Amino acid sequence: MEDRSDIPGLRPEHGRALLLDLRGEKWLFDTGQTDLVAENARRRGIDLRDLRGIILSHGHYDHTGGLEAVLRETGEMPVYAHPGIFRERFRTGNNGRTTPIGIPFFRHRLEASGARFNLAESGREISPGLYLSGEIPRMTSFERGDPLLVVREGDRYVPDPFFDDQFILVDDDAGVIMITGCCHAGLINSLKEVQ
Ligand SMILES: [Zn+2]
Repeated sequence: MEDRSDIPGLRPEHGRALLLDLRGEKWLFDTGQTDLVAENARRRGIDLRDLRGIILSHGHYDHTGGLEAVLRETGEMPVYAHPGIFRERFRTGNNGRTTPIGIPFFRHRLEASGARFNLAESGREISPGLYLSGEIPRMTSFERGDPLLVVREGDRYVPDPFFDDQFILVDDDAGVIMITGCCHAGLINSLKEVQ
């Protein structure tokens, strides 16, 4: 599920959720922003209880908001992410006002729904041939991020450092495949980390 859909019957929504089928092992990478992801899965005849786990690329609402709906289908399920996904985050509008755009759930509520969080800051292999990047070092001078995406620090807002932004790598017969989320860390920074 993403912002547009070319497949009849599958509804689009701003955000993203990808079902990965790795030699029969199914993973969900991000969950979109509402329960539409679970509805689309039903329409496609996908049983979310077959998932091996859920991976979250970062803590924005449009990648995490469908998590509770997915957990309602799956029950207990490992959820891999960076511990920073629970940070409060905001977007600054033209009028200077800030709108919350972080993960729209408290951790304990998700855990009560079955989430078994597996959080780490460093890169790791979460299943044979499937890697989660960990924090992406900022190497380039020209990828400065979006100054309108902010977090609170004391009584002021500062640009979101997005330490929680991660990509996944699939090391497959076809080669090495990189799949990013929003890639707030910057695509070149992320590719350097792949190298
Ligand atoms: Zn994002």
